[in-house]
Amino acid sequence: MKVYNTQSKRKEEFEPLVPGKVSMYVCGPTVYNFIHIGNARPMIVFDTARRYMEHKGYEVNYVSNFTDVDDKIIAKAIEEGVTAQEISERYIAECKKDMEGMNVKPATTHPLATQEIDGMIEMIQTLIDKGYAYNVDGTVYFRTKKFKDYGKLSHKNLDDLRSGNRSLLVTGEDQKEDPLDFVLWKPKKEGEPSWPSPWSDGRPGWHIECSVMAKKYLGEEIDIHAGGEDLIFPHHENEIAQSECCNGKPFAKYWLHNAFLNIDNRKMSKSLGNFFTVREISEKYDLQVLRFFMLSAHYRSPLNFSAELMEASANGLERIRNAVSNLGYLLEKAADGEMTEAEQKQLDEVMAFETKFDEAMDDDFNTADAIAAIFELVKYANSNVSSENTKAFIQAVRDEIIKLCDVLGIIAEEQQELLDEEIEKLIQERQEARKAKNFARADEIRNQLLEQGITLLDTREGVKWKRA
Ligand code: AMP
Ligand code: ZN
Repeated sequence: MKVYNTQSKRKEEFEPLVPGKVSMYVCGPTVYNFIHIGNARPMIVFDTARRYMEHKGYEVNYVSNFTDVDDKIIAKAIEEGVTAQEISERYIAECKKDMEGMNVKPATTHPLATQEIDGMIEMIQTLIDKGYAYNVDGTVYFRTKKFKDYGKLSHKNLDDLRSGNRSLLVTGEDQKEDPLDFVLWKPKKEGEPSWPSPWSDGRPGWHIECSVMAKKYLGEEIDIHAGGEDLIFPHHENEIAQSECCNGKPFAKYWLHNAFLNIDNRKMSKSLGNFFTVREISEKYDLQVLRFFMLSAHYRSPLNFSAELMEASANGLERIRNAVSNLGYLLEKAADGEMTEAEQKQLDEVMAFETKFDEAMDDDFNTADAIAAIFELVKYANSNVSSENTKAFIQAVRDEIIKLCDVLGIIAEEQQELLDEEIEKLIQERQEARKAKNFARADEIRNQLLEQGITLLDTREGVKWKRA
């Protein structure tokens, strides 16, 4: 398998540090609002990379953080008159709902920055002790000039950056030794969340969070570090500086970055105001369509969001689902019995589509070509499988389509509708959960039913339900 490494600027053969195992860190969102579909792009594409590596037999330790302390979270908390923690907890829960809708697997660990402050203080202290960081009046900066490899990821001309940044210095930053030095720890301002440290009561800079969480949950050296391309500089460049100077080892072997999701050829972003949240999209489309749309392009190509492309994705997904449900229908009518010799041969042709799929994915996760291989398989099934075939053969073809889709996180099998009695049973369980004050479970059941289009009405005569 080959992956494109931003650091070497070329595709490299993927060889994990420990054979059979992959350690992967993906920078997660800052949680001050619902995530938008631009934020969803790294979630979907790197979840797909993970699924593919699992399909190849790797055991993947996948870590993705939530940044739950940040200026924007604090600003939102002040605006609403609540604590920063309340804001971050609310939007982490909402983000997890969106992830579930997009069939993004939960990470092995989802660390929270605010739970890792001790580790950050420790790393900052080590950097100070080694001469890579300095304290000025309670603010600690990283001394970029001391790290000879600074700039190796982003390939930036540091002298140009220095002269550019000098004119951008804001008041209070003139205490830095060098314009490229960045904050590791900053003193609190009135009303902000803060933690005690040897330098000041304050909070960590953004970059140090990821270095610490990657080290704690994956180790000092990791296989893959990923995120959106806007993170290459300064965020990932700074993570390399912190981790390599602290640990004395190379940090990540492969750096993967997704291109932007654009709208009218401009980056979708909160600050430009040109965004759709995943939640808004979910009101119009099945979120599987959003996933399919994201995977229809290579992750390193810019992707322009449009209603036409979403419609095309909806049609593509439907074509696959129709084939699967048609095979299910043939299965009911077909004869039992062993696969015939002719069918065995045909099965080889079917398996050739999986080889094509794997070749595409082995080439730096080319999901666009992988989807094309699935379409070819669907076309083959539509024209070569009939009720004359044995159940064994039909089942094998159907399973193959479902399996390849599943590697991409696409659910090809229509969800079975809940039967009336199953609904009644769930409602009963919800009543019992409420009696036992297990409101989390009760809400979970309500949501599960909602997803199936079933709404509950609490009436005087008990709970009633209706299908949408
Ligand atoms: P943020 O919450 O802004 O730190 O972003 C979380 C993740 O989403 C990062 O990996 C960003 O690079 C990524 N991201 C933000 N906007 C976009 C976009 N329009 N297209 C693709 N990725 C994005
Ligand atoms: Zn990060």
